[in-house]
This record gives sequence, C-alpha cells and structure tokens, in this order.
Amino acid sequence: MSFVQRRSAGQEEFHQAVSEVASDVLPWIRNKSEYRDARVLERLTEPDRSLSFRVCWYDDNGELHLNRGYRVQLTNAIGPYKGGLRFHPSVNESVLKFLAFEQTFKNALTGLPLGAAKGGSDFDPKGRSDAEIMRFCQSFMSELYRHIGPDTDIPAGDIGVGAREIGYLYGQYKRIRNECVGVLTGKGLEYGGSALRSEATGYGVVHFTQCLLKQHDLALEGLSVAISGSGNVALHAAEKAIEMGAKVITLSDSGGTIVDRQGLDTEKLAWVTALKTERRGRISEYVDEFDGEYHEGKTPWQVNCDIAMPCATQNEIDNDDARQLIKGGCRVVSEGSNMPTRNDAIHRFIEAGVLFAPAKAANAGGVAMSGLEMSQNAQKRSWSDDELARCLESIMHEIHDRCVEYAPRTENGLINYRYGANIAGFRKVADAMLSFGVC
Ligand code: NDP
Repeated sequence: MSFVQRRSAGQEEFHQAVSEVASDVLPWIRNKSEYRDARVLERLTEPDRSLSFRVCWYDDNGELHLNRGYRVQLTNAIGPYKGGLRFHPSVNESVLKFLAFEQTFKNALTGLPLGAAKGGSDFDPKGRSDAEIMRFCQSFMSELYRHIGPDTDIPAGDIGVGAREIGYLYGQYKRIRNECVGVLTGKGLEYGGSALRSEATGYGVVHFTQCLLKQHDLALEGLSVAISGSGNVALHAAEKAIEMGAKVITLSDSGGTIVDRQGLDTEKLAWVTALKTERRGRISEYVDEFDGEYHEGKTPWQVNCDIAMPCATQNEIDNDDARQLIKGGCRVVSEGSNMPTRNDAIHRFIEAGVLFAPAKAANAGGVAMSGLEMSQNAQKRSWSDDELARCLESIMHEIHDRCVEYAPRTENGLINYRYGANIAGFRKVADAMLSFGVC
C-alpha cells in the first residue's frame, strides 16, 4: 500500500479499491513465489496507460465550455480493454483508476476474454438539452476515437452515459472512421446493439443474489429489498426482484429516498422508469403520485429490510449505515454499484454474518452482456432475447460458483464472497500476465 500511496498520491478512491483487493490477495500469494517475485499485484496498480484530454463544446447560448476527458486503460492481459464511460462532475483520475482496477477482476470473473479500462469526463449532463449533450459527445469522441477500436478498447455506458449518449458517441466515431464496427457496447438495437444489454447489470445482480441465497438454503420470494439509485442498474434490479416475488421498498436519487412500505409493483416501477428516462424528473415526485414517504437528503439505509442493494454510486454505505442495516435485520448486501461499501463497513457485515455479494461479482452481468454484444457484432448476427437471457443467467451462476470455489466459509458457516471473488479474479489475470514474461 505504501508503494501505491507514493505512486498515486492523493488518489483516495484508488487506494481504497487496491486495499480491499490486497487484503485478500497478499496473504494468498505469501507462499506463491511465482506471483510474488513477478510483482503481479504491484504491476496491476500501474495502468498500461492513462490518457486525459481537453473537451470543448458550445452550450445553447453560444457560450464555450471546457471539460476534461479521460481513458484509463488498465490491462489487456486477458482481452481488449473494456469498461464504461462516466459523465459526472465527480469524475477524476482517482475515480477512474479505482473503477478500472475493479473492472480487471470483474471482467476476469465473467470467464470472457475482456481486459479492463474506464473513462469519462467531469462534464455534468444534468439540466443540459439534447443538443448540448450531442455537442459534448461529439467533441469527446473527436479525441477518444484515436485510442479505441473493436479489437483494442471497447467502451460502454456508466453513470450519466445511457442509450442517448452511446448513440451520439457512436455516430461521431462512424463519421470520423467511416467504419461500422463494434467499438462501443450498449448500442441501440437498430444499429448493432444487443437485446438485454440495458437490463443485464440489474437483472444480473438479482440472479447472483438468488444463487447466494440458494447456496445458504434461503429464497428471495417475500424478502424486502432496499434499493438505492433510480438509474439503469437500480430500475432493472427492482424489475427483476419484483418479478421474482421480492418486495422492493425504496428507491433514491441524489436528492433523497422514497419509501413505499407496500412495495413497488410493475405499474409503479413503469411510472418511475418513464419519470427518469423520458421526463428526467426527480424521485421525490413519486409521493405526489403514489402513497409513500420522501426522505430528503437521506439514503435508504435507515429503513429496515432483509436485503440492501446499493445501485447508485461509490461509498454510499459507511460504517454507521452498516450498523443501522444490521440492527434493522438486513441479512444480505448485494452490490449493484461499484465500490458502494466502505472497507470498514464490509468487515462489519462479514463479522455480523451478513451475506455480502461484492460488486465485482454481483454486477458483472452488464459487462458480460457487453462481451456477448461484441460476439454478435463480430459474427454480424443478433441473438434472440431468450438465448441472451439464458446466457446471462448461466454466466451469473458461473461467476457465483467461481467465487465459491475460492471462498472459505466464515466462522458462522457462511461463504466469504469478497475473498472468493478477489482470488478467482486475480488468479486468472495473474496467470495470463506470467505467460507474457515481464512487460
Ligand atoms: P445512472 O446514471 O443510470 O444512475 C445513477 C443513479 O445513481 C441515479 O439515480 C443518480 O441520481 C444516483 N447517483 C449518482 N451519483 C450519486 C451520488 N453521488 N449520490 C446519490 N445518488 C447518486 O447510472 P447506472 O445505473 O448505470 O450506474 C449506477 C452504478 O452502477 C455505478 O456505480 C456504475 O459504475 C455501476 N455499474 C453500472 C453498469 C451499467 O451497466 N450501467 C455496469 C456495472 C456497474 P441522480 O440522477 O440524482 O444523479
């Protein structure tokens, strides 16, 4: 950690992500000189390259704005660089390095040949018109196109980058390169996208949770689920959880949390989806339409629930939230967002016997479906919804089983999924790196 802290000074999110993985990997490699002597873990903390660039664009009033764009290409040891683009004012190199580092182990866990990257910009899309978003995306791609390609680096969406932004980005790439190739995933179905790509991360979190519950002789049906966020991952996790008979009692956005103790049904969820994707409104509007409470400025973690599913952003569950969730009867935490739980809170959950599904395993369904979109683009074919739904479910089962293969049971007889995911993911990437010699 001192090596990382010295070389990446001040990058706190990155230190946090490395420390979480290192706490499991370092003891595991203690007796394995092949990994230790080749300094594999240290090498993974230094990205292959980290690019930053200027992005200039005009707003609707003709005023010029300046943002910074990034692409962190962390490793292509097991396949071309792959990872999303995030447009949010909090984006900086530390955030993208943590996301790319996590992506490394996540992509390895899918079993697909996918390396790891992450990118984005400190651009804030909130309140911007479609024309402004388009001009920003075109300017961003006017530089990014030099660094990506269908066999080199294939970005996708993340916070602030959904179907609309992917369309503008792909349109610009096509215009510059005059090529129709699978250089981005999350594309529209009309121009080479895959069915189920938007749904895959949220659905995958619920599939993984089902596997985890089954492994411990439990079932999802009837359990209450507190979900944070109301974006792509949160809404699809809610949809699948409701379909599986669970009771979804919260959603949130950066303004606050709505609590519906009756549980959301498909009609209420369809209303929220339209609110967020078409009208781009605030979650507080829910209580004007349906019964429920709105807790301004609050996260969902004060609400009693069986399962907590953070699906908004990083560091949304701290030690106090963990204490509160445990007190409120929470038995499972399934991470939909990346690194939503602080390291001390993870320890608290595991010690208290809460089943903890880490993001790198639980939310890997999205990148797995992106891998399948790449395969469809390469074959110039589209697979059916049913075929893809079966693939997603089976990939999530395989990820679960890979974690279990490496996971010890904790003192109370539960599987330590954090450990299993870290070791299984590390081992695959590390073995590939050893094959290439020192580079
Ligand atoms: P979206 O932009 O669709 O939604 C993000 C949601 O989180 C919004 O409801 C947003 O509220 C809320 N949010 C964002 N930042 C904050 C904050 N600082 N505090 C409180 N709420 C916040 O993003 P996604 O659903 O795509 O991504 C959510 C998480 O899932 C991220 O961590 C992402 O990295 C991860 N993920 C996404 C994948 C995907 O396929 N999309 C794949 C794997 C992981 P508001 O609108 O008010 O900002």
